Amino acid sequence: MWRVALNSRQYKHQLKIETQNLLQRGIFWAMYMTLFLVVVVVLNTYYFSYSIHDIKDILPELAPVTLLVVVGFLAIKLLALDEVTSQQSYAFLILLVLGWCYLLYGLVQLSGEPMPGLESLGDILALVFVFALFPNRKVMLLGILPFLLFSCFYRWHEFPDSPVYPLTKFACLLAIIMSGQKIISGWFIKAVIRDFEKQKLVKQFKRLALIDGLTNISNRRHFDEILTQEIRASERNNHALAIILLDIDFFKRLNDTLGHQAGDEHLIKVAEIVSSAVNRPRDLVARYGGEEFVIALPNTDLIGAIRVAEKVKNLLEEAQLAHPCSDVSEWLTLSQGIAQWEEGMSKDSIVQKADRMLYRAKAAGRNTFCSDKTQG
Ligand code: GH3
Ligand code: MG
Ligand code: MG
Repeated sequence: MWRVALNSRQYKHQLKIETQNLLQRGIFWAMYMTLFLVVVVVLNTYYFSYSIHDIKDILPELAPVTLLVVVGFLAIKLLALDEVTSQQSYAFLILLVLGWCYLLYGLVQLSGEPMPGLESLGDILALVFVFALFPNRKVMLLGILPFLLFSCFYRWHEFPDSPVYPLTKFACLLAIIMSGQKIISGWFIKAVIRDFEKQKLVKQFKRLALIDGLTNISNRRHFDEILTQEIRASERNNHALAIILLDIDFFKRLNDTLGHQAGDEHLIKVAEIVSSAVNRPRDLVARYGGEEFVIALPNTDLIGAIRVAEKVKNLLEEAQLAHPCSDVSEWLTLSQGIAQWEEGMSKDSIVQKADRMLYRAKAAGRNTFCSDKTQG
């Protein structure tokens, strides 16, 4: 199942979006950590460094990274996080890394004697950017390599007698980070796949809940939902709305003579024919019950609805579906009740009106349609 998901375009698109979201959040988290670490650096250089006694000495080095954090906070305050594009956050990340490199370089210049704290600061920064950027290996390497290299070079520079130690440290840290990233991003990908499959299932269930299993057109639940929405839209915009209730004539007899299976096949064909009679995107054809269908016609007045009813009647005549024991024709026929929505009418009352018109059409001899204005 997962292999199918992994190859699907929608999954790849979702993985890309989730990765970008997580990276973006990680970059903002790195910004908060930067603020914390800047405070740590200031306190450490002020209290524990032998060579840097005045905080003013490191202000120019601290300025870029601190300014970036301020800009970042302002961006969060002024923009919604969702509005920040991935290019903007990558640019911010590059500036943040450069800001730190500048500060580290400045601290090396200012410190007269070796400062073990600087090597640790490089390691700590690499760790911060591993957590922040783990969803994308390339971006993560871009974020951590400057700090790992700094930490190892600094060690080698201050203690040139033991070059093996920084080299070993670099290799070990890189191996741990790369394998750890693989494990964590594996969990992340699994979570995205699960989410993707869940969304797909929910969509399928929703679709199944609204489709009639036999005829493959909308069911009564879907029709009720759509009709409620369309009544609201008509109330708001003062647009016309009409529905047609259709009932197959003498269908019980057809089942009794040709068999239930043939009855089912006729229902499927009638669903196709009724569907082909409407063509506007918002028109909806649904199976309302056993051998009853319904059409919702938004933005359509009574004249328009009568035209649709005539079209259904003609298409059904042309289709010539056998009905050996109908009283009205040798072919299968329908009776139709048409109702136009009027101000203040509820979903139930328009359906009741269409039902009354359908009853009239049956009483008028079947194979016809009725509305409160016209009789076909
Ligand atoms: P009328 O002209 O008055 O509408 O007569 P009718 O026989 O069509 O109406 P009635 O309500 O007496 O019978 C409806 C029949 O529709 C009864 C039932 O067996 C049949 N029916 C309902 N659902 C299905 C279905 O899913 N498949 C099949 N084959 N028949 C169905
Ligand atoms: Mg019926
Ligand atoms: Mg019937």
